Amino acid sequence: MSSETLSSATDVKNLVHPYTNLGDHFNKGPMIIERGEGVYIYDNHGKRYLEGMSGLWCTSLGFSEERLVNAAIEQFKKLPYYHLFNSRSNTPAIELSEKLLEIAPKSLAKVLYANSGSEANDAAVKLVWFYHNALGKPAKKKIISRLRGYHGVTVASGSLTGLPANHQFFDLPIDRILHTDCPSYYHGANPGESEEAFTQRLINNLEQLILKEGPDTVGAFIAEPVMGAGGVIVPPKGYFEGVQKILKKYDILFIVDEVICGFGRTGNMFGSDTFNLQPDIMSVAKALSSSYLPISATLISQPIYEKIAEQSDEVGVFAHGVTYAGHPICAAVALETLKIYQDKNIVSHVQEVAPYFLSKLHSLSAHPLVGETRGIGLIGAIELTQDKASKKPFDPSVKIEKLVQENAAKHGVLVRGIRNAIALCPPLIITKEQIDELFNGVEAGLNAALETVEASKAS
Ligand code: PMP
Repeated sequence: MSSETLSSATDVKNLVHPYTNLGDHFNKGPMIIERGEGVYIYDNHGKRYLEGMSGLWCTSLGFSEERLVNAAIEQFKKLPYYHLFNSRSNTPAIELSEKLLEIAPKSLAKVLYANSGSEANDAAVKLVWFYHNALGKPAKKKIISRLRGYHGVTVASGSLTGLPANHQFFDLPIDRILHTDCPSYYHGANPGESEEAFTQRLINNLEQLILKEGPDTVGAFIAEPVMGAGGVIVPPKGYFEGVQKILKKYDILFIVDEVICGFGRTGNMFGSDTFNLQPDIMSVAKALSSSYLPISATLISQPIYEKIAEQSDEVGVFAHGVTYAGHPICAAVALETLKIYQDKNIVSHVQEVAPYFLSKLHSLSAHPLVGETRGIGLIGAIELTQDKASKKPFDPSVKIEKLVQENAAKHGVLVRGIRNAIALCPPLIITKEQIDELFNGVEAGLNAALETVEASKAS
């Protein structure tokens, strides 16, 4: 047996793969990735792929940034671990929080670390509850999220996530988590409804939900500036302006989940900058370290911090925190990542290449399989349909998005199929030539899928 067949068999024998069809995996085995170089990765057969999804929307600096490797090694040698409990600290965590707050929306004043986006959002939920207890408003605890929003998989963050597969059979959502509409005009508009009318209807629905539940019972609203895993949903014009007005009116905190949008993805440092959001709480992860090591953070406003500190003094301790919060090696790598964003002027680079990326993306809307293309900055999606006029999706049994995804991979490009759509989220360091390569692969994938669809109609 070759070593490749052997490691594939060992994988199937021992591993439970996250977000994987476990039956298919048992039959087909894994795709094993062995090394990376810039925006490319190589599998264990030596085949090269352009990583059009930055892994899981996360390796914004690609797969071979030496400065990050060196930052990790240096810190490893100096101090491989220390925690932040009981007033202990470490220099990388201190410096990272200063740098993060320097670039974060001005409404934020303090940083709480964790390891993953799920944990950062879980902490956000706990902080909303703790804060309202401290305020003497123990009823103001419900959190409104959105259908198709993605906020993680832990018990609380998985409840915030608005996707059926994350709830079904997991006994989620937990109590006090509510869901309002997804702001997708393509999927949600009534026949003949204008984008403005659609947006206003969603804002009215949000207000009606708050009134029905009772404003004194609603503590926070959470949103990604651009929904990622829900299918890359770019909100319509005026949406967040309207949402923020309602939140202010009923004294509801705004949690902005920047786990995908943070650090340049939408053409500004944060999605909050792109959409003029004023978060009370903000979660970041993924591109915070270009995902070279796990680290996340929940940023909070000064008023929230003060109230929490006051209440903790009464209890004697702020009884929250994880062992690896502010881990010095992860923090050192994150700090170096932020310095690289600055040195490379990554936001300017995104602003320079994004119009090209988006024009290539939108040019695919003429393809017979494409119902809509949408995107902003360096994130986009291609919605697939069997009928452009009625927007009718393909039957799930066709697995149209998998057909496109697999055929694009055959052409050396990795993209992700999400429910009738193809998501694109390349490393932010991508060049125009590599954008051409990305879209050549995607188009080849679309053409091959079309051939399969037409062949099955004919047979
Ligand atoms: N929020 C958003 C917007 C995400 O996209 C994700 C992960 N895709 C998460 C939270 C959860 O992050 P993690 O997988 O690191 O727990």
